Amino acid sequence: MAGRFAPSPTSALHLGNLRTALLAWLAARSTGRALLLRIEDLDTQRVAAAPAVASGQIADLAALGLDFDGAVVWQSQRLGRYADAVERLPTYECFCTRREIAEAASAPQGDGYRPYPGTCAGLSERERAERRSIRQPALRVRAGGVTQTVTDVLAGEVTGVVDDFVVVRNDGVPAYNLAVVVDDVAQGVDQVVRGDDLLSSSPRQAWLTRHLGGSVPEYLHVPLVLNGRGERLAKRDGAVTLGELAADGVDPGAVLSLLGHSLDLNEADEPVSTRVLLDRFDPLRVPRAPWTLR
Ligand code: GLU
Repeated sequence: MAGRFAPSPTSALHLGNLRTALLAWLAARSTGRALLLRIEDLDTQRVAAAPAVASGQIADLAALGLDFDGAVVWQSQRLGRYADAVERLPTYECFCTRREIAEAASAPQGDGYRPYPGTCAGLSERERAERRSIRQPALRVRAGGVTQTVTDVLAGEVTGVVDDFVVVRNDGVPAYNLAVVVDDVAQGVDQVVRGDDLLSSSPRQAWLTRHLGGSVPEYLHVPLVLNGRGERLAKRDGAVTLGELAADGVDPGAVLSLLGHSLDLNEADEPVSTRVLLDRFDPLRVPRAPWTLR
């Protein structure tokens, strides 16, 4: 039994990411699970600063008092596993550009995702050969539009249509939805805590989990953190990382108290430890509304 926290090393963790990490830690530790740390660095493989960003993220998690089990896993070192998984899936080559999909597909979903209309699903070998000489294909899984329901601790039952989503991008990089599921299955993850921007991806991921022989995990999608203008919190919103806050005189202990307060676990400015928060934690009492900072 294990939970995990899986940051992408694009920039330092901000208060929203740290709050999700704290919740992943509380959810795992309160149920006797191991907690794994996985660096999702497939998108940043060619970014020279990414390893240093990831090291900073690992240090910040430790500074908050969040501990993890086992070695840190880096997705960029697991490319063979993703390739093996693709071999076991029904896939087809897709030559569509974003624009072609936008033109062919019905309106985007609320999260902006456009279900794939299946344009390339029935291409002949000859059509594929022709298109390959023009453009590198992406690989899509042949899911055929089935529906899949997942259970989320906060959102309840969530049903989504599983379209033929991309598993290998046309630059050859494994897609997020593939890598995350391959790793969760391989690492025995049965509890997924993450930001609720990924809630709508979870039916696709659950479907893939079953196809790769895993059991669908328990999900807890954490409501987002918003800035004072009601927008999703971003790096540009002032002092929002541990380093920036420290420069303003807010130490990690004060940040832990701020995060605990946002989860209704402590009074404002009450000194707390992760242990104290764990004693008070009840997953069903995680606030369902977004946390607005400032
Ligand atoms: N790497 C993703 C992110 O940083 C999280 C993926 C996940 O937890 O499934 O948003």
